[in-house]
Amino acid sequence: MTLSGIGVSPGVVVGQIHRIKHAVIDTPVPASPREVFAALDAVATDLEHASQTVSLDVAREVLGAQAMIARDPALVEAIGARLLDDITYPDVRDAITEAFSGFRDALLSIGGYFAERVADLDEIKDRSIAKLSGADSHIASLKTPSIVIASDLTPADTAALDLNFALALVVEKGGPTSHTAIVARGLGIPAIVGCSNILTVDDSAQLLVDGREGTVIVNPSDDDFASRHTRESALRARAAAVSGPGRLSDGTPIPLMANAGNEQDAIAGVAAGAEGIGLFRTELLFLDRQTEPSVDDQVALYLRVFEAMAGRKVILRTLDAGSDKPVPFLNAVTEENPALGVRGWRLTRIANEVLERQLEAVGIAAQQTQADVWVMAPMIDTAQEAAEFANRARAHGIKHVGVMIETPAAALLADKVIAEVDFASLGTNDLTQYVMAADRLDSRLSDLTSTWHPAVLRAIHTAATSATNLSAPIGVCGESASNPQLAAILVGLGVTSLSMAPSAISEVRGYLAGLDRATCVHAASLVLNASSAQEAKDIASKILGD
Ligand code: PEP
Ligand code: MG
Repeated sequence: MTLSGIGVSPGVVVGQIHRIKHAVIDTPVPASPREVFAALDAVATDLEHASQTVSLDVAREVLGAQAMIARDPALVEAIGARLLDDITYPDVRDAITEAFSGFRDALLSIGGYFAERVADLDEIKDRSIAKLSGADSHIASLKTPSIVIASDLTPADTAALDLNFALALVVEKGGPTSHTAIVARGLGIPAIVGCSNILTVDDSAQLLVDGREGTVIVNPSDDDFASRHTRESALRARAAAVSGPGRLSDGTPIPLMANAGNEQDAIAGVAAGAEGIGLFRTELLFLDRQTEPSVDDQVALYLRVFEAMAGRKVILRTLDAGSDKPVPFLNAVTEENPALGVRGWRLTRIANEVLERQLEAVGIAAQQTQADVWVMAPMIDTAQEAAEFANRARAHGIKHVGVMIETPAAALLADKVIAEVDFASLGTNDLTQYVMAADRLDSRLSDLTSTWHPAVLRAIHTAATSATNLSAPIGVCGESASNPQLAAILVGLGVTSLSMAPSAISEVRGYLAGLDRATCVHAASLVLNASSAQEAKDIASKILGD
């Protein structure tokens, strides 16, 4: 049996299961208000203790934040108010759940990163109720190397388990920015999130986890393991053998760049050998800002990233606020359908001055740095939008202006859109979501949100061909660039540079160094005629090899 989810950290392992079960309290809990407050206090103390003892930085921060929430007077007051009303809430579980739900809804309505933090809040509630009912919320620590499976891995689990024994993490819920994904990448172990049926697997089963493909094979054969293990070892060996700028075996340069959201990412990019930053996501600097930063503040923030990249290219993206990346000072209005709403460059319709001030700040910062600053706008749909952006950016002295191609409209009409600018960058995360009409954050649709789908590959091909005809560079800065085989297909489709998480650069460099352009073009021409993502992958494996 093969299960699938979203691979969020690569690697292949086989091992026994270590299941994390969170206590489910399904009978009423008799407790006085005093006992409820004592339970909440005890949960906060447990979390504080865990935050002091856990070794992973990311878990320590989340546990500390959770302890603060558990002691938040607003939460305690909300619970207290409901406990007084024992007619509406005869069962204290309902009083507690209802009190948490106000805070929960607030996070969900912000969406994106904040919505994924709902799991942290739910955990405090569940632990409080478990504490009151006397249920054992103790997590058995890992004593032998095992594959950890759970509905979701909470920060408290991370503290209780000894994750040094974790071979891999597979969870039913979660998304690419969930706690499980962050912890796994930090530990360098394979991980899969959104694996819907993982909890149906018997405890006695052996699992093979392929964190690159996002697949779990239950009771695998030796061959299943051997073929995947060979692929991973070959990728690592090739990565170790090649250094320097990205190029194909025939010498064709394919610059390999890093995606960055702040100065630390830029530094990590340089350390990983990135030739520049192919996507500087400026909105990530402002996710927690209630008010717009001044032009001077913005200049200082951008300069920090530029300085880390002195002498190299930086492609800065103007604010892509909205949908999965809401920024409080820009996205105050709740939208029916935020992915299709006023996000990215479309914000000029409601907050034109904010985008104008950003361009002003970028123009000033670009003059003050040794970095080679290029600027692009996200969510461009039409040639008119591209022209408007280009005029406005050039008016601020920005020399290289470009657009992201991440909507089907922009890809289909790329000859007109790219003609207005100097370069383009394919945002394959959104392009895949929009071509397939499948939410990129919904793990139940992970089979649809694959850039390997030939429909998406054809959209990429259309855009890349237009760019080639216009002699305009066209990169890819979506997640797809970090998959070595897919990276080779993208090059075969006409893409001229790739930008990815710094951790992926060396494997992509090593893989591309073993292929010439003719092979990439041949493989690309064949995958365009596949009828499914799986068929496209199989063709790529056959032509390009593992
Ligand atoms: C993309 O859509 O592929 C992209 C790179 O932009 P983001 O993931 O920030 O939306
Ligand atoms: Mg995007």
